[in-house]
Amino acid sequence: MTTGPCIPAELSWLDDGHVSDVVLTAMADGEEAVVLPAARDHVAACEACSARLAEAALLTLRASELLGSGALEVPARSKPRAAVPLRAIAVALMLAAIGAVPLFVDAVTGLPATSAMVTRALPILARSAVVLLRHGSVGLERATTLVSWLTAGIAVVVGFLIARAGRRAARGQSSVQGGV
Ligand SMILES: [Zn+2]
Repeated sequence: MTTGPCIPAELSWLDDGHVSDVVLTAMADGEEAVVLPAARDHVAACEACSARLAEAALLTLRASELLGSGALEVPARSKPRAAVPLRAIAVALMLAAIGAVPLFVDAVTGLPATSAMVTRALPILARSAVVLLRHGSVGLERATTLVSWLTAGIAVVVGFLIARAGRRAARGQSSVQGGV
């Protein structure tokens, strides 16, 4: 039977044998029908991919909450499209930060591979937006808002990295001062 577009195998798997973020985002969004059965089985059996699915689910949940609460709606009063939904961006920024926390905890406690973490976080954010856009309910106005949301998410990730670098520098400085 046809269930619409399915994620092709070459987009379902990473080189290391785990499933891709595309698969995880789709599953996090409850769209298991578009995921290959083999990929679903892998996620169920693989601890690493289950953990990644949880991260993806968290991000998708935040996005869904935004859509459900109407925070991403352009206010009816304002001129459609022309108005920049500053409040929605602020909320999204906060939620994106919350969603990014597990990724950063992971990065801090795990390998010092900050760049690898960013390359992991950004595709999840990007594909969350793609999944949301695939929903018929998301119109063009929301799409432009999602772009803002995505930009905000990227800004948060970059901000975190800058804050971390700054904290590290400050720590080094205070230890020098403490010795005086
Ligand atoms: Zn895996």
